[in-house]
Amino acid sequence: MTPTTIKLENANALAAQWDDGHKSRTSLRTLRDNCPCASCQGETVLLRTYEPVPSPDLPGKYELKKAEQVGHYALQLFWGDGHATGIYTWERLRSLCECEICNGKKVSESR
Ligand SMILES: [Zn+2]
Ligand SMILES: [Zn+2]
Repeated sequence: MTPTTIKLENANALAAQWDDGHKSRTSLRTLRDNCPCASCQGETVLLRTYEPVPSPDLPGKYELKKAEQVGHYALQLFWGDGHATGIYTWERLRSLCECEICNGKKVSESR
């Protein structure tokens, strides 16, 4: 599953067209809050879990400056506060989709 086009839908959301026909839509806030990098999510090294260090919200935190494709498998997002270590795999990007279809599915699955 790979996106054929990825573009900003508006100032607050990223839209992607997928090769299976799905059109996903994810708010920038959700993308940033789910940043997969180690400093945002914490990491487990040698059985010790390092919690992410909470950092104050800087201006531009939810402002997307740039998006760059990484190889054939992921997207790197560059944020307004200078954070750019998050690599979003296609799988992760798709799982963060907030369109009505995906949202409806998540709701019914949790019941
Ligand atoms: Zn991060
Ligand atoms: Zn969707």
